[in-house]
Amino acid sequence: MSHVLHRTLSHTYPVAVAGEGIRIRDAAGRTYIDASGGAAVSCLGHGHSEVGEAMKRQIDALSYAHTSFFTTDVAEALADHLIAHAPAGLSHAYFVSGGSEAVEAALKMARQYFVEIGEPQRRLFVARRQSYHGNTLGALAVGGNEWRRAQFAPLLVEAHHVSPTYAYRDQREDETPEAYGARLADELEETLARLGSENVIGFLAETVGGATSGALTPPPGYFARVREICDRHGVLLILDEVMCGMGRTGTLHACEQEGISPDLMTIAKGMGGGYGPIGATLVSDRIVRAFREGSGLFQHGHTYLGHAVACAAALAVQTIVQRDGLLENVRAMGEGLREDLAARFGSHPHVGDIRGRGLFQAIELVADRATKEPFDPARKLHARIKREAMARGLMVYPMGGTIDGRRGDHVLLAPPYIVTRQDVTEIVDRLGEAVDAAL
Ligand code: PLP
Repeated sequence: MSHVLHRTLSHTYPVAVAGEGIRIRDAAGRTYIDASGGAAVSCLGHGHSEVGEAMKRQIDALSYAHTSFFTTDVAEALADHLIAHAPAGLSHAYFVSGGSEAVEAALKMARQYFVEIGEPQRRLFVARRQSYHGNTLGALAVGGNEWRRAQFAPLLVEAHHVSPTYAYRDQREDETPEAYGARLADELEETLARLGSENVIGFLAETVGGATSGALTPPPGYFARVREICDRHGVLLILDEVMCGMGRTGTLHACEQEGISPDLMTIAKGMGGGYGPIGATLVSDRIVRAFREGSGLFQHGHTYLGHAVACAAALAVQTIVQRDGLLENVRAMGEGLREDLAARFGSHPHVGDIRGRGLFQAIELVADRATKEPFDPARKLHARIKREAMARGLMVYPMGGTIDGRRGDHVLLAPPYIVTRQDVTEIVDRLGEAVDAAL
């Protein structure tokens, strides 16, 4: 009997014992193609010796020094690297241990900013439905996944939700993508007006939706309008790139493709590529200045902030991604993945939508392609697809549809940036078999 409290108590998990490149091997000797990067984490694949060597060098020199006593060369070097490649205006990195912590820090920084500048009445966040920002209470409060929130609702701070960017279901037939994006941005502005924008701290959004939405991309011009609306109302724009960032969509930051910079941005997952538990909140100079000229500190902190070995892992991962030109491969293999998905599922009777960017692509499953009616969530199609995929040696990241029928089950693919064209074909072949077996 296992003494680990696993994610699902009804399931027996295979024991992972080794990882090499895009594959993981279990104790029974079976191998699995990691077509989801775990949860969009493993950007370099598994077992990269250079990362291991960098971590070992750091352990030999110094594994840990508490940030209330010291900084370290490796944390400074990682921050220099991240800021040198960050969207304009972001000047500092606050290192944490993962995505939820990065979001918690961003929410608290945003609130403290307004306290420092004399606008303490600002206490509300606006985010989007069908979003996921993490499982800690603050991140859960702003997240738009009803299933995850439901039983914890009495513990959550007040947050308001606007529509996601979900062209497949919500863009009207007579509407251009630009007009659809403008309508969504107008909804944000109307919400700010209803709440009184002087009470709102920030608008939080995943640049490309991930876990709860299945690679929902923004319509052209949407984020440019959102940026302009936030500026006009003095509301901070917080982009959550924990899943879609650090190269996953083909540029280092997904917001580069939108031509905007946020006031705060969260990153994690692909930042350390799974070699160390690490994330960061990137902060604009204006917020840091307010802290410096005000209380002189950010009122927050965890024991493992800026852990030296995790920083060494992330610095090695980021250096290799850049040195080996892996973002070019993300763009090229992303196109290949899109082509293969279109060929395999483009006229599949139960695949309603294929969407995404770079190596961040999803298919949405529907009972009826013409009406877009989702499958009954009680069928747990997503869980069956995962089981069938694992039985075929394939890891994918499926998610159930919503009970209100707003979204069908989807399957997210986020393979490592090192995939080849042949790997992509194998992934889509195995996925096709798994989907058909699960239906
Ligand atoms: N934000 C986004 C967009 C995510 O996709 C996730 C995790 O999937 C998180 C935050 C939470 O990150 P973590 O699981 O590392 O706490």
